[in-house]
Amino acid sequence: MLKYDSYYFQCPHCQAWLEGRNLKAELVNEAILYSDGKVLYDNYITTRQKMLLCPSCGHAFWIEDPKEPFITTEKPDAEVYSWNTWRFYGIRFSDNKGKLALINHYLTFLKKSHYEPKNEIYLRRFLWWAYNDLHRNHQHVRLKYLLNGFMSFGVWHSNRRMILEGEKLFLKNLKGFNSNLKRLLVLLEKHPEEQIDLEVPEIYRELRQFDKAKELLDQLGSRTHFTNEMLRHSKWKDGRVFMVSG
Ligand SMILES: [Zn+2]
Repeated sequence: MLKYDSYYFQCPHCQAWLEGRNLKAELVNEAILYSDGKVLYDNYITTRQKMLLCPSCGHAFWIEDPKEPFITTEKPDAEVYSWNTWRFYGIRFSDNKGKLALINHYLTFLKKSHYEPKNEIYLRRFLWWAYNDLHRNHQHVRLKYLLNGFMSFGVWHSNRRMILEGEKLFLKNLKGFNSNLKRLLVLLEKHPEEQIDLEVPEIYRELRQFDKAKELLDQLGSRTHFTNEMLRHSKWKDGRVFMVSG
């Protein structure tokens, strides 16, 4: 079964054709949601990548409004760069080196030019997720994950080593993580229309301002599984990203 719908678009600089993919709508509910708002399906992020580097000429550009005629679902009669050639700037994530490379890409983009608030929010949100990728799924280091039989010892062991190493790298980069979140918070509070769900209380929690996170969550009218989990983690003074459902 095909899980993705392909679409095609052209680099505005060199006119090369690129293939993009969207997860089929009916599969979105089967995805994994994390507390920072990142959603993964089959290890693929489901949020569309809006800023990319052309794999043919290296030009950086945005796909703001993905509508025809800029984007078409019809395969063009020309050579097409596949999704993997440009998705996340061609980085592979099988080890922590790839995760650090992605962080550096975003830091470089942010340093290189000035962006409209909407675009800066987009880049800082993806930078936040990239930092969190260093220790996402931290719960997998527990022996429970080996004992429940989801993974073989070899897979569990090497995965565990990567996550523990990632945790060290995360702590090493904590200053950059915090300053990105502080700037993102200022932008989101100034532009509430750009906020996603529980992003603001989650940012306070990850900045370890647990009382502020709790205060914002308490202001929400109704409780959900997500808000209860965030309150629980705030009470434990745990600022690490966690899996909400999946
Ligand atoms: Zn190009």
